Amino acid sequence: MTRAVVVLFLGRLGSLNALEQTKPSRFWRRWLGEALPSADSIGRVCSLMDVDDVRGVHRAVYARLKRMKALMPPEHGLMLAVVDGHESTASRKRCCPGCCQRTLHTTKGDVLEYYHRHVALRLVGRDLSLMLDAEPVAPGEDELAAARRLVERALARYPRAFDVVAGDALYANTDWFNFLRARGKHALAVLKDNRPNLVEDARALFEFQAPGLDVERGSRRYRCGDCDSFTRWPEVSPQVRVVRSLETWTVRRQLDGREEELASDWLWVTTLSARQAATRAVVDMGHARWSIENQGFNELVNRWHASHVYRHHPTAILIFVLLAMLCLNVFMAFHGRNLKPALRRAVTMRHVGQLICAALMREIRGPPGAPA
Ligand SMILES: [Zn+2]
Repeated sequence: MTRAVVVLFLGRLGSLNALEQTKPSRFWRRWLGEALPSADSIGRVCSLMDVDDVRGVHRAVYARLKRMKALMPPEHGLMLAVVDGHESTASRKRCCPGCCQRTLHTTKGDVLEYYHRHVALRLVGRDLSLMLDAEPVAPGEDELAAARRLVERALARYPRAFDVVAGDALYANTDWFNFLRARGKHALAVLKDNRPNLVEDARALFEFQAPGLDVERGSRRYRCGDCDSFTRWPEVSPQVRVVRSLETWTVRRQLDGREEELASDWLWVTTLSARQAATRAVVDMGHARWSIENQGFNELVNRWHASHVYRHHPTAILIFVLLAMLCLNVFMAFHGRNLKPALRRAVTMRHVGQLICAALMREIRGPPGAPA
């Protein structure tokens, strides 16, 4: 069944019914050794599959890429795992035992909405990053509880794959930081208004500190501050560190062609000491956290149709998410390792995806005018 779903994603078909329409093709006998099951059967089988089997395929792909030395750490030498929550579907009509619920206050009264959310883990390497695993947020629990299960499993399956776990402001949480330290991993999180006292204390510190790092990279200028002994969060042991990056860059306004200076001011809190990671490394890892949204969730949703509900069942939803992630990983590895650099520079990644999709559809439908 996995092989049929891989074609669904690589062919960017978007629904099991679209896949079923290719059923008459002789391609399926060659690819599966049997006829393509109906859309209903594929959905039903996916709801009965063992999620660990699919996670095992993820592990095998990781192990192979690791052996090929495709997963090398960035320049600073630390492998980063990014965790983040993603809502894959929402409905006011359909629900299942895995659905979370929320009440929406509308002008026509309160409405109950059902949704699925999962936490994903992305491994960030120098040239290649992988969406490694996902864990559903169970009804009634918060994202951090699911993230904890996810990281516990990652520690068991990929114990040496990452050194630091990064998250958004939600992960600037005492229990989360202590949980990671107790397991020999470092934590890094955005510091934002959800921790107002810490933000206020950190900003006050940097008010009186001269910038420790002032660099230009591309069109962006970074003025960074670094406080290695931030004593205002004593619940986390050992002491945490706070890094600030005030970034400025110039854009040309489309309306009148005038240049406009933009700025963003970032604060990160981490258990990494200055000896373990330089200021620049912390800033780089802080920015690398965005890759789970930009090259992970956005790519999966917009180009791989991963948020479509192929079968509304808790197991099936997770199986489809994991298989979409697997296809994305293999595609990224192919793009990064198999294509010649000149070709990679000449065409966009999107174009490469379209070429693969077109080649696959040619296999399934035959050349134009040919009988299927
Ligand atoms: Zn559901």
